[in-house]
Amino acid sequence: MEALNGKSVFGGIAIGKIKIFDKGESVVKRTRVEDIQAEITRFEDAKETAKEQLGALYDKALIEVGEVNAMIFEVHQMMLDDLDYVEAIRHMIEGQNVNAEFAVATVGDNFAEMFAAMDDDYMKARAADVKDISDRVVAILQGKQDIGVLSDEPVIIVADDLAPSETVLIDKSMVLAFVTRHGSTNSHTAILARTMNIPALIGIDYSDDMDGKQAIVNGYDGIFYVDPEASVLKEFQEKQKDDLDKKRLLLELKGKEDVTIDDKRIHLYANIGSVADVAAVLANDATGIGLFRSEFLYLGTKNYPTEDEQFAAYKTVAENMGGKKVIIRTLDIGADKQVDYFQLGKEDNPAMGYRAIRICLNEPAIFKTQLRAIYRASYYGNISIMYPMIISVNEVRQIKAIVEEVKDELDAQKIPYGEVEQGIMIETPAAVMISDLLAKEVDFFSIGTNDLTQYTLAIDRQNPKLDSIYDSHHEAVLRMIRMVVENGHKENCWVGICGELGADISLTKTFLKMGLDELSVSPSMVLKIREVIRNTDTTK
Ligand code: PEP
Ligand code: MG
Repeated sequence: MEALNGKSVFGGIAIGKIKIFDKGESVVKRTRVEDIQAEITRFEDAKETAKEQLGALYDKALIEVGEVNAMIFEVHQMMLDDLDYVEAIRHMIEGQNVNAEFAVATVGDNFAEMFAAMDDDYMKARAADVKDISDRVVAILQGKQDIGVLSDEPVIIVADDLAPSETVLIDKSMVLAFVTRHGSTNSHTAILARTMNIPALIGIDYSDDMDGKQAIVNGYDGIFYVDPEASVLKEFQEKQKDDLDKKRLLLELKGKEDVTIDDKRIHLYANIGSVADVAAVLANDATGIGLFRSEFLYLGTKNYPTEDEQFAAYKTVAENMGGKKVIIRTLDIGADKQVDYFQLGKEDNPAMGYRAIRICLNEPAIFKTQLRAIYRASYYGNISIMYPMIISVNEVRQIKAIVEEVKDELDAQKIPYGEVEQGIMIETPAAVMISDLLAKEVDFFSIGTNDLTQYTLAIDRQNPKLDSIYDSHHEAVLRMIRMVVENGHKENCWVGICGELGADISLTKTFLKMGLDELSVSPSMVLKIREVIRNTDTTK
């Protein structure tokens, strides 16, 4: 097996045979011509034919890759009429008595070199375009046919470089990926590859004897595997299958509602740990964010994040979600999430220790900074707050009092904020058992099944020795979920799950039957759950 490193210009996995694309670049000989006028006419005629071919390519590309990408062929037509370019060719034929092929090839090379030397990535990429139009005119002058279909089975096209006119001519159903030695991220080949949704790599130093061999294009990491080992092949076949599943789900389910066959609607949200994760939330079409683990803002720094830093993060998330619900969970550090500057000290039993809301209620300054940031951001979107590790009504009342103080301060400073729903996480058996009382205090419950399982079964979720008995399907956990839903609904408090169990498709129907209002899962699971919801009939 050989693994060649290059640069990815479009992601994805392709597995198949290599087809080396040999342009058979023609040698252009210099010959002396006597009838200069006739030679100039030959050039002019070839140029017109080239423009006609480009017009046909434009029409083909318009259907296949859309107007924006097809425009390159219009640009090529215009380049062929560029005065500097045309004059340079005429001048060479007249001044040096050379044949039109030679003049076009030489001027094309000179212009390409000039573009390549420019200090601008976009202009650099245009070098390939000049070369492309010149090659076309030369081919016409030499009486060659246009390049056509390459293969009768799907292949990975490997080439030195590919001109846009070549990529567009190739029968797409026969192309698995593009791999080139040259080319740039901004080249039209790269743009077309992206539009065609085919993985593409550049900067791969292949050799001609690879033709016909099996290969893997890893468009995520920019690696080209030739003659892959069985284990590598298996790994990428699985990745490819995963990709295909996701693409299929996306195509089928993007924009569709989260409603069962018998018309039960559920809010399908996603969990995030950072601002950057919002891209995955939107790409997977979640209808909101059900858990923003805000502690990650504290984990990545050497000191407490300031109010403004937090405000900027929450505001960006709210704005990028464009009015969809964003539930921010307040700081949940301690236990497995240790932050040096909090100086929490070593504890014998950290999972049951000084953590989450316990720290926030003990250190109101830290808590208020976060609440102020969240409230300020709420003006820019649809933000809700929830509090982790609740065990008593008293805690909720203390929180509410602090929230009122924060709102009063903001009012006094004339800082605007929005309507913010208040919720709590249900992740302790205590919270479950008093969920009837807690429901009177808040707008919603979000069940944290990861911790709820750990505390219900008395199994440390971090202890690998206990993995086999850490059972979120335990009847005790399921009964607790049911109880929380019933108690919540009696008080008009909506109920969701944001722990990992929410993404367990073997339980989706059970949850729907229980009457859960929301499921918040990792972004990559959203469409899988949507598929299950839409195929479920809770009456059966
Ligand atoms: C949970 O406990 O289920 C939860 C969602 O919170 P975390 O996993 O962050 O503790
Ligand atoms: Mg938890």
